[in-house]
Amino acid sequence: MLLDIIENLALLMTLCWLHETLIRNVKGHILLSKICTGALFGLVCIVGMMTPLVLAQGIIIDGRTVILSLSALFGGPLVGLIAGCIAGLYRFWVGGVGAIPGLLNILMSVLMGMAFHYLHQKRSIPLNALSLLIFGCIVQGLQILNIRLLSEKIFAIFVENALWPLVFVQLLSTLLLGLILRNIHQQKNDREALHESEAYLRAITEAMPDTAIVIDQGGNYTVIKSSDKQQFPTSATRPTSKHLQDSFPQIQVELLMQFIHMTLASNEPQTIEYSMQTQIGKRIFEGRARRLDILSGDLPAVIFMARDITERVALEQEIRISAIAFECQQGMLITDAQTRIIKVNGAFSKLSGYSEAEVMGQPTRILASGKQGPQFYKNMWQTLKETGGWAGEIWNRHKDGEISPEWLTISAVHDEHGQVNNYVASFIDISERKNNEQKIQHLAFFDPLTGLPNRRLLYDRLQQALVACSRKHTYAALIFLDLDDFKNINDLHGHKVGDELLCHVSTRLANNVRELDTVARLGGDEFVILLEELKTGKKEAAIQIEHVVSKLLKALHEPYLFNHHRLTTSASMGVVLFNDEQYTPDELMQHADLSMYGAKASGKNSMCFYDPQMQAAVSMSLKLEQDIGRGLTEGEFKLFLQPQVNIQGELEGVEALTRWQHPQLGILGPDIFIEIAERSDLIELIDMEGLHNGCLILAEWAKNPRTANLSLSVNISTRTLYKTDFTQSVTQSLTTTQANPLYLKLEITESILLKDKKKAAIHMQALRELGISFSIDDFGIGYSSMSYLQQLPLDQLKIDQSFVRDLPESTSSLAIVCAILAMAQSLGLEVIAEGVENLAQHDSLIGCGCRHFQGYLFGKPVIAECFEALILDSPPELLNGPR
Ligand code: C2E
Ligand code: CA
Ligand code: CA
Repeated sequence: MLLDIIENLALLMTLCWLHETLIRNVKGHILLSKICTGALFGLVCIVGMMTPLVLAQGIIIDGRTVILSLSALFGGPLVGLIAGCIAGLYRFWVGGVGAIPGLLNILMSVLMGMAFHYLHQKRSIPLNALSLLIFGCIVQGLQILNIRLLSEKIFAIFVENALWPLVFVQLLSTLLLGLILRNIHQQKNDREALHESEAYLRAITEAMPDTAIVIDQGGNYTVIKSSDKQQFPTSATRPTSKHLQDSFPQIQVELLMQFIHMTLASNEPQTIEYSMQTQIGKRIFEGRARRLDILSGDLPAVIFMARDITERVALEQEIRISAIAFECQQGMLITDAQTRIIKVNGAFSKLSGYSEAEVMGQPTRILASGKQGPQFYKNMWQTLKETGGWAGEIWNRHKDGEISPEWLTISAVHDEHGQVNNYVASFIDISERKNNEQKIQHLAFFDPLTGLPNRRLLYDRLQQALVACSRKHTYAALIFLDLDDFKNINDLHGHKVGDELLCHVSTRLANNVRELDTVARLGGDEFVILLEELKTGKKEAAIQIEHVVSKLLKALHEPYLFNHHRLTTSASMGVVLFNDEQYTPDELMQHADLSMYGAKASGKNSMCFYDPQMQAAVSMSLKLEQDIGRGLTEGEFKLFLQPQVNIQGELEGVEALTRWQHPQLGILGPDIFIEIAERSDLIELIDMEGLHNGCLILAEWAKNPRTANLSLSVNISTRTLYKTDFTQSVTQSLTTTQANPLYLKLEITESILLKDKKKAAIHMQALRELGISFSIDDFGIGYSSMSYLQQLPLDQLKIDQSFVRDLPESTSSLAIVCAILAMAQSLGLEVIAEGVENLAQHDSLIGCGCRHFQGYLFGKPVIAECFEALILDSPPELLNGPR
């Protein structure tokens, strides 16, 4: 009996050993492992059944319940079923009276094992000695019930001989085999978990670019994994017996050792940055270390991960440098591809006045000054597109509205496909530079004392004037001016006063020429004046110059007031007139200089022309001017009246035309004196004299029914109309003479209106309100436009005699006359034709619709005193009424 038990135990041990070997070798193939385990347990059952405890004939007691129940408990349903089937087949083949309970025992064992397996899987029961004992008891209890199925006799024999040994052996076997199997499975599970975590760890370390090393307390290291052949030339993962000293210089070794000790003392991972000489040069590494919770060899150790961060450090350095460079003295801004601002620096805010938040996301055009047109920006973008860059001067607007010049550089930033991602712009304020440039320019071209152009600029302008004159066929003049006896002022009052005087002189000179003329200072008391765009005729130009010069002489001769002094000085001027490039600037300067000495010689405070003929003409004009003045005071200017008639030939009015009754030269027409008078204030005197005499005539006529309804037209020149007190003077004449303004007509020429239409309109409006009417003289030869005819208070248009002269032959004149008449009719204006000398002209004008006429055909201008006798009493033929 004891021998049988030992034999069974040996069998169980064999089973355990085989099972352990099996699952160790068939790992990874779960199904195969289960089939093999099931087969093994089934076969061991068969062996057990082949060497049973035979209690009586046909009653075989063996360890099958133990083996099969535990196979299902540990191996699960598949293992239990395979083992159960094998054992069941064998038991069936053996047969005998105990076959049925034997097979039931097999079934019961497998089912019980499976039930416990299920409960254990559900974590309802643990697998320990007690649970195994309870499991064994249940299985054995059920086995005893099975045996009870046999005959009473056999069961009695069983109870008597085998019950307690069986219970004892079987329970012991269940406990022993269960614990061993539990251990085997525990080990298997542990092995699998370890394998799994190893796989994870291997994958993680291989995926990492870092080098992993285990370094012990003594500085010995083992490379676990390295992809860096420069740093760790020994093959990766193979343990080495190296020391830190083999790879690093002493100073680094000490540093790293300190770090390792620090890491060993800490529960947290530690980091360090260090550099190392490698085969490709010096590299920078970042090391991260964590204490290993096991010993490496006999010593505590750390796991150390090293990462090459050379590129990253360089990049960070580059970013730091870029950031510092960005915050430079220049204004910087970065935009996206749509030129919306995405970043600016501090200098930008300082220069533009905008904070970063204010411009963020804004288009760059918020900075535009508007000083440069769309074409400028178009060209800029074109260049940027073609070359990827642009640099130049630009005017930008500060937040406070002020605009300033800036030097701007723009670069486009492209991506790898050549698309523009950003624009980077930098700029500096160049206002100061521009100011300096201007100052330098000023110093180079202007006299520092007076601020007038210097010799250099004068020559430049003179050269340009020469070219312009020969191109446009206009006249220009060079006036050389030297102050008379300036040396005395300097000697008597000192240079300070002398300088001050020069400044005053320059101001007076500049104030008495037009803006387009140039006043230059050559040095000392020498000045040069360049007059451009003078009158077209040589004589006219000379007379114009003469007027300017006399104005200048007069202005310079006015006393100068200093603190305690009242100084007077005068100047001598030499003039040269030119209208082509016959002479060079130097020659012209010489001529003017020479003439200036002529003026000095003729007694100072005077001018002298380089050309003697010119000098004569100017002298004569001057003399005439003086004579007009005298004639006016003497009352030598008389009014002549010329009749104006209607279509029936009835007298409607007269035009007053001034004549000069010269004591020596006889009666002089306006062609002799008007032009000269127009250059000075004399014309105003002539006009006002004519107007006043006209008013006297009107007042006189009012008394006589034959003349009471006649109008009187007076010619008024430009200068007179623009006179500030003109309206006042007219009102005064009307009041003193008691003339009716309704019969007074003022004739003005078209050119008058072009100069300052606004001022003319104001004067005309004021006079119109008094009842005075207006006629446009010489109409058709000027620049009449419909708009000014509409805007001015007009009553009459006077067709110029040049159009009448060629009638009726000239079709163009006829067309103009007809057009004027049609236009006047549409504007509600009266039209009068002047210079009508014959009937053909008269008929032709009537044909065009003209209803008012003036000309020799109806009467020549006659002196006012004789008008009544000559015109009213014995009128020309046509004045008697229509033919
Ligand atoms: P105007 O205002 O166009 O005057 C008409 C001129 O044509 C007058 O010349 C007159 O004698 C002349 N005339 C008149 N009928 C005929 C004709 O049938 N055939 C020809 N060939 N000529 C005719 P006048 O008197 O020599 O005056 C010349 C210009 O002098 C005037 O041209 C006027 O502009 C100006 N004028 C005359 N007196 C004054 C005045 O007191 N003040 C101003 N500012 N200018 C005046
Ligand atoms: Ca006239
Ligand atoms: Ca006229």
